[in-house]
Amino acid sequence: MNTKDKIVVALGGNALGNSPKEQLELVKLTAKPIVDLIEAGHEVILAHGNGPQVGMINLAMSTSAESSSHTPEMPFPECGAMSQGYIGFHLQNAIREELLNRSMQIPVATVITQVIVDKDDPAFKNPTKPIGAFYTKEISEQLVSEKGYTMVEDSGRGFRRVVASPKPIDVAEKETVKTLVENGHVVITVGGGGIPVYKDGNRLIGVPAVIDKDFASAKIAEILDADYLIILTAVEKVAINFGKPDVKWLSQMSISQAYQYIEEGHFAPGSMLPKVQAAIQFASSKKGRKALITSLEKAKEGIDGITGTVVIAE
Ligand code: ADP
Ligand code: MG
Repeated sequence: MNTKDKIVVALGGNALGNSPKEQLELVKLTAKPIVDLIEAGHEVILAHGNGPQVGMINLAMSTSAESSSHTPEMPFPECGAMSQGYIGFHLQNAIREELLNRSMQIPVATVITQVIVDKDDPAFKNPTKPIGAFYTKEISEQLVSEKGYTMVEDSGRGFRRVVASPKPIDVAEKETVKTLVENGHVVITVGGGGIPVYKDGNRLIGVPAVIDKDFASAKIAEILDADYLIILTAVEKVAINFGKPDVKWLSQMSISQAYQYIEEGHFAPGSMLPKVQAAIQFASSKKGRKALITSLEKAKEGIDGITGTVVIAE
């Protein structure tokens, strides 16, 4: 890696935890490898997931609304916006503190970020992402008729609402993010994949959907003309024959190898598959762009080329 690269870092669920207390502790650890990159002279842009957090907010809001007339019904895009604020608050402060501990005066900010999707994305016809609470069959049927939700039976545990996972097309706040990055700010953006919106004339309208954070991270990395997309998750490397006796951990994948492994079904949909697809998308978008998938703990070593799985165009 060159001395000064522009790097989009996508943080996974293990970087944040499941409660405010846990998150506040975990972000301290998360901040260290990120500040290592900044200290090494790189420009860092941060993206993150929000599955457990938006689930928690959505569940709390809908439970209160069901039991009390004082709490209004909170739409899902608003829950997503809340999750960006809640996570950004902890993350930006942890990074700020870690920077100051190393005597680095660099401003850090979270941008509430909307990601534009196509209203006619085929994903809307086939919602797949479960969100919120489990309901009985009766209540589930009531939610379908009263609110128009799509409900599915979730592995014997009850009925759950599912929403679509459309592809990101553009980032509404991209000029703001660019300006901040150009001026040396550390920016947290496209939290939880961004708040999904579609364009209606001059208006942006929120949609109850979940954009995969791996795809949104690849999109903002392309928009910002980043050199690297680094996806930090719970595993140090990507494997073929994952979970099998003949598991093989990969240090590098060319685009064509990656496509072949996808074809052969090596990557679990909903976990590793979107990461590999996002890595392919970014690495093939322009010559010289690289994607790296590794663990949060090994981020520094990954960047130094010691570990992790690199996806590069041949
Ligand atoms: P994140 O919150 O970082 O997005 P996910 O749980 O969605 O994390 O995806 C990472 C997980 O994907 C790993 O912890 C691992 O259990 C799983 N996984 C599935 N297939 C593979 C594979 N082929 N190689 C490595 N990990 C895999
Ligand atoms: Mg994931």
